[in-house]
Amino acid sequence: MRYVSTRDARTPPERLSFEDVLLAGLAPDGGLYVPEDWPPLEADQIRNMRGYSYADIAEKVVAPFIGPEIEPRALGALIAGAYAGFSHAAVAPLKQLGPDLWVMELFHGPTLAFKDYALQLVGPLFDHVLAQRRRRVTIIGATSGDTGSAAIEACRDRTAIDVFILYPEGRISEVQRRQMTTVASANVHAIAIEGSFDDCQDLVKAMFADAPFRQALNLSAVNSINWARIMAQLVYYVAAAVALGAPERPVSFAVPTGNFGNVYAAHVARRMGLPIAQLAIGTNRNDILARFINQGAMTLEPVVPSLSPSMDIQVSSNFERLLFELKGRSGAAVAAAMGEFRKSGTLPTDEQAWRAARSLFSACRVDDEATRRSIAETWRDTGELLDPHSAIAVAAAKAVRRETGVPMVALASAHPAKFPEAVAEATGVRPALPARLAELMRRPERRPRLPNDLAAVEDYVRAKARPIGEGGAG
Ligand SMILES: *Cc1c(COP(=O)(O)O)cnc(C)c1O
Repeated sequence: MRYVSTRDARTPPERLSFEDVLLAGLAPDGGLYVPEDWPPLEADQIRNMRGYSYADIAEKVVAPFIGPEIEPRALGALIAGAYAGFSHAAVAPLKQLGPDLWVMELFHGPTLAFKDYALQLVGPLFDHVLAQRRRRVTIIGATSGDTGSAAIEACRDRTAIDVFILYPEGRISEVQRRQMTTVASANVHAIAIEGSFDDCQDLVKAMFADAPFRQALNLSAVNSINWARIMAQLVYYVAAAVALGAPERPVSFAVPTGNFGNVYAAHVARRMGLPIAQLAIGTNRNDILARFINQGAMTLEPVVPSLSPSMDIQVSSNFERLLFELKGRSGAAVAAAMGEFRKSGTLPTDEQAWRAARSLFSACRVDDEATRRSIAETWRDTGELLDPHSAIAVAAAKAVRRETGVPMVALASAHPAKFPEAVAEATGVRPALPARLAELMRRPERRPRLPNDLAAVEDYVRAKARPIGEGGAG
C-alpha cells in the first residue's frame, strides 16, 4: 500500500510506504496521509471472521494497509501483544440498550478511554519500525488530562522511545495525574509545569521550533492525525458488524466526535465494503461538524468548555481526509480550501462536496443539558452508567436513526468513572473505578515539577533522555 498527502498538488503525487507515513505523522506540505486506494473487504472475508478474536480480526483488517514491510509473523505478534492487556475478553464488547440499540464499550484498555484501542497498537508499531531502522525518538507532548496517559501507556518500556508529557500543575484531576505519575518505567517522564495547559502547549511548540534541540533529541509527537491511528480504529467497526450479522445484515453507528478521527475510520470501513447503513456524528456544544452537515457552512467559533472535554474542539483535523475525497482527491483543491480556512476561519462553500457529505453522515448537536438527560434516561431504562461522551453518542443515535430493523451501535468512548461528577449529578450514583485502577490511588508517584521556562524544561529533557546513539537495535 502506498500513501499520498491530502495537499500534494503535483502529478503524480509523491507516494510513501506505510513505515514512512507512520514515522512522519504530518506531511511536510501540512497535509495528512491517506492510502492511494481502499483495500476491498469482500463479503466472504467478513463472513469468515465470525467467531474470530479481536486480535485475529485486527490482523485481517490492518494487513493490507501495511504490506510486506512488516512481516506477517511480526505483525501478528505486535497485534496480539497490543490487546492482551485489555480487561475484557471481547476487547470491544457490545451491550444491548433497547430494541435495535447497542453500545460498544471502548473503555477496556489501560487508561479507560477509546484512544487506547489505537495507541496500544501504534506504540509497538512505532517501536518496531524504529528498532529496525536503528533509530530512537523522544516523544514530547502536552496534556490537559487524558491524551497524556494514553500516550504514556502506549510508549512505556519501549526500547526506541523516551516520552515526556507536560501537564499543568494542579489543573488536572487526581486520577488523571496518577495515571501518568505512577508509571514506574524508566523511559516515561510526566512533568508538572507551573502554568496552564496553554503554557504547556507553548513549551512543546517552542521545543519543536528549537532546531538544534529537536535534532539532538530526534523529537517526535503523538499525533492525533497519524494514519496508523485511523487504521487501528477500523478494527472495532468490523468486529461489531461481524457480531451483529454482517455481511448479510447492515449496521449503523453513532460516534461522539471531536477531531473526526473515530467517525472517519467508520467511513473508511464502509468504503472498504463493510455494510454500514447510517453514520451519525454526535457533537457537544462545540458543534462545527453538526453545523456543516446540517447547514453547509463550516465556520470557526471559540471553543467553549463542556461536560465532554475530549470533544471541546473546533478544528476537526481529520476532516481534511474526507475533504480530499469530496474534492475528487485533488491535493491542489484541498490545499487552497485549507489555506482559506486558516486565513478567514470559514471553509469556502462547495455545494457538491456538502451534498456528498450529507449523503454519508447524519449529525446531531447534544448540549450539556441533553447530555445529562441522556445519562439519566439510560440509567433509568437500562441500569447502565454512561460517561458524558458516550451519552452524546446514545442521544445522537436516538435522534437521527432512520431505519428500524438495522442495529444502531453507539460508541461508548470513556468509562463512566473517568467523569464521576457528571455521572453522579445526572444519576445520583457515583461510578466506581474498576478494581485494577483502584490500586492507582495507593501506588507511589513521581512528580517532578518545573517552572514555566523553556530552558529549564529543555535541560531536564536533555538530562533524562537516553542518548540517541544508544539502544534501538533490540
Ligand atoms: C478523543 C475522544 C473523543 C473524540 O474522538 P475523535 O476521534 O477526536 O473524534 C470522544 N470521546 C473521548 C472520551 C475521547 O477521548
